[in-house]
Amino acid sequence: MRRRVSIGTRWTLRYTAALLVTVSIFAAYTYSRVVERTESDAALHLELQVKQIADAIGDSWSTAPSVIHTVERNIAIAESDLRLGIQIFDAKGRVLLKRGSLARQNLELSGKLRGRDGKRVSYEADFGGKYRYLVMEMPARDAFVQGALYTRRFVRNARTVRDIYLYSLPILLVLTAVLGSLLARGSLRPIKEINLTARRITGTHLEETIPTTGTRDELDELAHTLNEMITSIRASVRRMQRFSANAAHELRTPLNAMRSRIDVTLEKQREPEEYRRILGEMAEEVESLSNSVHAMMRLAQSEAGLQPEQRVPVEISSLLGDVVEFFEPLASDAGVQLSLQPADPVTVPGDPSWLHQLFANLLHNAVKYTPGGGRIDVAITPEEAWVEVIVRDTGVGIDPEQAARVFEPFHRVAKRPEAPGVGLGLPLAREIARAHGGEIALESAPGRGSTFTVRLPKASVEG
Ligand code: ADP
Repeated sequence: MRRRVSIGTRWTLRYTAALLVTVSIFAAYTYSRVVERTESDAALHLELQVKQIADAIGDSWSTAPSVIHTVERNIAIAESDLRLGIQIFDAKGRVLLKRGSLARQNLELSGKLRGRDGKRVSYEADFGGKYRYLVMEMPARDAFVQGALYTRRFVRNARTVRDIYLYSLPILLVLTAVLGSLLARGSLRPIKEINLTARRITGTHLEETIPTTGTRDELDELAHTLNEMITSIRASVRRMQRFSANAAHELRTPLNAMRSRIDVTLEKQREPEEYRRILGEMAEEVESLSNSVHAMMRLAQSEAGLQPEQRVPVEISSLLGDVVEFFEPLASDAGVQLSLQPADPVTVPGDPSWLHQLFANLLHNAVKYTPGGGRIDVAITPEEAWVEVIVRDTGVGIDPEQAARVFEPFHRVAKRPEAPGVGLGLPLAREIARAHGGEIALESAPGRGSTFTVRLPKASVEG
């Protein structure tokens, strides 16, 4: 199993590695520049000395007292750590004069000047000391001038720069690692909090919220988003809990009634006729229970939304024609006039059986809640992007306070126990409309009737 390495440690290691690379490149560059610079400083220093003597020879001859004087003076005033040495050779390379550090050495002309008329050459020579000497040779009228300079001072300067980097790098890295890990820990604290809170949240324990800092940075945004998610999960869980409690209640009451009815029936011997009548009534009860269960399942399905394969073009006016035709006998039995306004064909993408259910629920309610002598009008109004279906009745109406709640599952208007139902028709109608990307609106006035307007999009809307 791979060992768990925290984000904080990973960040710290990465930053430290990045710093190591950056500082190393910077140090290597600085060091090479310093070396280059000190080398050219040393060469310049030596060139000045050698050139001065070559000029002095140019003015007289190689062993003139003035030349000897210049050589000795230059060596005397040169800083002692530079260990300046001068030699003058004749045209054949024989030593004419030896002074300073070169007086003790047996250094001959290198011969590198040959063929390089008037130019100077420089090279390094090892006289057995800790550091090497920089040697320069230059031609002068009838002779050659050779100068030597101990490079200790120059090399040391460059090494000091190198050592500063070498010694400070580990300290810098340790400091970066420590500070980086402190900073990373600080910045990751909100994630820890989010994690702890998220662990405490379970299906039954949804009251927790993730603390926010108010800084509106990415982590704060994440905490806000998660809180919104928790709030919406909380609302769905509450809705589900309410729904299942109501569903259990709705099923238990008729089941209990049936159970006691069976017990009473079995208490004594009865005529076959009576058994038949009771079983017939039971079958009706079971049918109504099965309808309720069916409605609950449909509601759960429609809350989950429409699957892409369910969407087919549905021609709304002929679908409404079928629904109206189905309810006509029921309406005429109740003495209610049901009419569908003729309309041009118009299609919406959707599930035909779900849409049939939606309009059947609205028409069933309209027939149930419209007393004899009333009217129910169904109209289709196509718009550019939408189709509006209006179901208007002249029935009992719904008062505004109730109107807001009739779309909640199991909500029924208390004063109307005579009309059968469990209060799932309108919630199911609304969920079907929403699954199609549409909506249902209700306008109603008690005693004057209700108007339900269903709006469905003509093109498919995801969600
Ligand atoms: P159900 O009809 O099974 O009771 P619904 O969800 O279809 O359940 O309706 C909820 C409540 O809204 C009904 O109990 C009824 O009081 C009221 N309602 C629905 N449609 C109408 C209507 N067209 N006119 C008056 N009241 C209505």
